[in-house]
Amino acid sequence: MYIISACLLGTNCKYSGGSNETEWVKKFAEEHSICAVCPETLAGLPTPREPCERKDGKVVSETGIDLTEEFEAGAESAYQVAMDEAEVREEKIEGAILKAKSPSCGAGKIYDGTFSHTVISGDGCFAKILNDHGIRIITDEESIDD
Ligand code: SF4
Repeated sequence: MYIISACLLGTNCKYSGGSNETEWVKKFAEEHSICAVCPETLAGLPTPREPCERKDGKVVSETGIDLTEEFEAGAESAYQVAMDEAEVREEKIEGAILKAKSPSCGAGKIYDGTFSHTVISGDGCFAKILNDHGIRIITDEESIDD
């Protein structure tokens, strides 16, 4: 089973209210066992919501609200949802396809907390949990063959 950021499959859970629908990810999902999750929705955050970025180990909204606890709780919930689903299906988690640069789902590269589209090295809260559990992640900006 693969974990996929729900917004990549067309769910309108993106902070702006839309999705990040991506054709190759949708095709992959049609051909594989997948579990779609949105950590920020699972955190109980509304959609649309303020854009947030990670900075100095915290997650802060554009107007300066510290949402670190909510983001970390949502990431943990998303991990548990995926683990529970894998257990029910009696499958192991083979990897994850996550939305690049998100403060939750971004893997390897994230925005730097200045809301200026500046990218730095780092992981979103959800990607960090998956990394800590040894789950291989690629983002929508890569290819499953990379
Ligand atoms: S938290 Fe992840 S799944 Fe949810 S909208 Fe953001 S990038 Fe997409």
